[in-house]
Amino acid sequence: MALNLLMLGPPGAGKGTQAERFAKAKGIPKISTGDILREAVANKTEIGLRAKAIMDRGELVNDEVMIGIVQERLGRPDAAGGFILDGFPRTVAQAAALDGIMTGHDPLIVIDIVVPEDELVRRLGTRTICRLCGETGPVGCEVGGACAKCGGRLVQRTDDNKAVVLERLKVYHRQTEPLVEFYRIRPTFRSVDGAQPPDRVAADLAAAIAAAAATGAAGVQG
Ligand code: AMP
Repeated sequence: MALNLLMLGPPGAGKGTQAERFAKAKGIPKISTGDILREAVANKTEIGLRAKAIMDRGELVNDEVMIGIVQERLGRPDAAGGFILDGFPRTVAQAAALDGIMTGHDPLIVIDIVVPEDELVRRLGTRTICRLCGETGPVGCEVGGACAKCGGRLVQRTDDNKAVVLERLKVYHRQTEPLVEFYRIRPTFRSVDGAQPPDRVAADLAAAIAAAAATGAAGVQG
């Protein structure tokens, strides 16, 4: 059974870091819509030019554009054996479109990473990202430090300043949190406590995915 995964959770929950780790361990692609958009901004593509201002305000890029990006990406051969989505879907419309895209494929496994709000604000205020490769710096890394992957300089994300962080959390509660209820009724939905140290989160995540996959496989057969 292909591992078709998606990570839910607020900004700062550790979705990207955990998705990256799990994807590497399983040899499946991590598909982060935030990374795809930041690359488009850096390359000054048409989508990038339109998305930049929206991202800098902490708002969401429109559903049609995002669905198009993800549909194209999931259609590539490397996603056929499984994938892990990070940052998509973020609205009910995106989730409904994803169900359409996934028709006839192995069931989606949905992991919600739960972290208290004050911890999210603290993490987002201190988070760094590499200016060259876009890798998120490890927790505790400071602006000006070197990226562990490519040696590039770590900077703060332009949308990680306090005002934009608060707006992104508001947008999360309004537009993305309803997805928890959208998916919760599925047998392949699991929650993971994201407030623990990263290694514990990774272990819980792997166990939750294995349990959900077993349920999903049973569902397909039965
Ligand atoms: P992220 O790196 O996932 O926090 O995404 C950074 C920003 O990119 C978000 O604040 C949105 O402006 C935009 N973005 C990323 N993914 C989506 C999505 N699925 N739908 C709409 N906007 C998105």
